[in-house]
Amino acid sequence: MSELTATLIIGRYQSTCSRCHRGTLMSTSHHTRELGYGVPAGKRGCGARFVDTATSDIGYTAKTLRELRPDLPVGDPLHRTH
Ligand SMILES: [Zn+2]
Repeated sequence: MSELTATLIIGRYQSTCSRCHRGTLMSTSHHTRELGYGVPAGKRGCGARFVDTATSDIGYTAKTLRELRPDLPVGDPLHRTH
C-alpha cells in the first residue's frame, strides 16, 4: 500500500495541502481535517502525510517555515502548483 504524501503549504491565514489544494491545520502530521471558509466542521482531509513545507506567502521565509514546523524540512520555498 503506497502512502500519500504532500507538501504542507503554510500561509499567514490558512495552510493548504499540496495534494488536494484544500485547507488544513498547520500543526498536524497528516491532512486529517479539511479547514476553510464554508467547510463543514469535521470534514475529513485527503489523509496525505506532510513530508515538507512550502509557503504561498511572500512574507514567509524558509527560516519562518523551519520555526513553524521544525519537524519538517523546507521544500521548494515557493508555492507549488502541480
Ligand atoms: Zn490533502
